[in-house]
Amino acid sequence: MASDSYCNGCIYKGLVNGNAPCCNYIFMEDKRRPCPPGEGCTVKVTNRDAQRRTAEERKRKKLELAKEQRAKRRLARVHTVVCPICGKSFETDRVQARYCSKACAKVAHKAQLRLHEKKRREMDGPSSDPSGHLLQGKALGVR
Ligand SMILES: [Zn+2]
Repeated sequence: MASDSYCNGCIYKGLVNGNAPCCNYIFMEDKRRPCPPGEGCTVKVTNRDAQRRTAEERKRKKLELAKEQRAKRRLARVHTVVCPICGKSFETDRVQARYCSKACAKVAHKAQLRLHEKKRREMDGPSSDPSGHLLQGKALGVR
């Protein structure tokens, strides 16, 4: 057959009874070849193509695995936190998460500001003390 040489190097090329070339496409792909055998073939895959395909497949699988591992790591980070504002426990993957919601974070922030303000006022208090102890202390270089 003149078309036999065309199939050389094709991964689908097989031999019938040990010597007659044939196409194993239908067996390997589990579907009928969409083209005539030999020169009219459109599904020829050389070993090189197959290797490239395998390499791509491997790369894809590696990427997929990395993605999976990332997701797993993320899942491992998920922990339960009790919101100090409303006492509700919630799950989060953020290490710094402290509050269950933005609303609670806002409340906490406001409380912190108030605390700050209170501290500031306490610090400012003595300086406005008519006895002027702090001013005296400052004048003497005591800090
Ligand atoms: Zn909360």
